[in-house]
Amino acid sequence: MDDAVMAEAVVDLDAYRANLAVLAACAPGAALMAVVKADAYGHGAAACGRAAREAGAAWLGVATLDEARALRDAGDTGPLLAWLAAPGADFAGAVGADVEVTASSVDQLDEIVAGAGRRARVQLKVDTGLSRNGAFGAEWGRLCVAARAAQDAGRVEVTGAWSHLACADEPAHPANDEQERVFADALAQAADAGLDVPLRHLSNSAATLTRPSAHHDLVRVGIASYGLSPAPELGTAASLGLRPVMTLRARLASVKQVPAGTAVSYGHTWTAPRATTLGLVPVGYGDGLLRGASGSGRVLTAAGLRPVVGRICMDQCVVDLGDVAAARGDEVVILGDVAGAPSAEDWAEASGTIGYEVVTRLGGRIARRHRSI
Ligand SMILES: *Cc1c(COP(=O)(O)O)cnc(C)c1O
Repeated sequence: MDDAVMAEAVVDLDAYRANLAVLAACAPGAALMAVVKADAYGHGAAACGRAAREAGAAWLGVATLDEARALRDAGDTGPLLAWLAAPGADFAGAVGADVEVTASSVDQLDEIVAGAGRRARVQLKVDTGLSRNGAFGAEWGRLCVAARAAQDAGRVEVTGAWSHLACADEPAHPANDEQERVFADALAQAADAGLDVPLRHLSNSAATLTRPSAHHDLVRVGIASYGLSPAPELGTAASLGLRPVMTLRARLASVKQVPAGTAVSYGHTWTAPRATTLGLVPVGYGDGLLRGASGSGRVLTAAGLRPVVGRICMDQCVVDLGDVAAARGDEVVILGDVAGAPSAEDWAEASGTIGYEVVTRLGGRIARRHRSI
């Protein structure tokens, strides 16, 4: 680690490409969409988008139109889908930048048609049970009819129909079969409306790994591509053949010996039971390190895993180094692909959340360094 750097996230693009290859092999009959929303789950969307194309991802997927435009500004020219827009969003700009947009209602389709200066490539989203975005119930039939009319009028080209699963990370959950059934009905309704939909898709990472019946024409992979298991129930990342893409490391900003009875950090929630050495890690919740892991997170030091003690602060946290010799500037690994280091999933467990949130939150002051051979 460079001497001048306090903390950095190293993003291993080889691992990312390898994970995408593993996921593509899970769904051999489907095209692959690399989901790079939320700055590629904290890994850097522009760099991951480029790497995903190199790895053969036919598609990139993002939530917002702004995220899609940012990828275009970074030079990406391939098939790209965005799926979340509030009224007044710049559909014209997105369509002009060759972004495929998603219509979740007749109103939204009207807005796309009204805004776009040219024929928009539109995918239709059906709500099959997540109760989030997507046309629900009778609205789906209306959306299909409106889309067919707009297509006949030359205003849009309907390129896809898709939905999203609520419980894919619990493979035995009955909602999975039910959503597949509702999706099949929705596709039949689209066909009845005269829509010949080329691209049908339903699977996230968990369904890509566990549910071939949900693969259809394309799978949309996010979390697993970054080397995290979608859920403990599906196994560890390693057991799924995935490698963590991000390694977060820092250099100790201070090291000091303290006597027994020394209380640490805000609220004095931890007191040294014996004389010990405290190391100051210059990463805190302002950088995305979850405060909920106060007192339960661990970092890898030269002497093995050591606990974070006391509360995690905005800019820093304290590690109990015990009686190990340590010096200011020594490197610690907070999470990632280093033997013995905690995983993002470990931090999630320590703070009562999911690995998704651990990596996606990292940001602010932490420099990202993209690495590739
Ligand atoms: C985030 C997202 C995905 C990717 O989900 P993972 O569980 O990270 O694989 C796929 N589809 C949609 C619509 C999403 O919002």
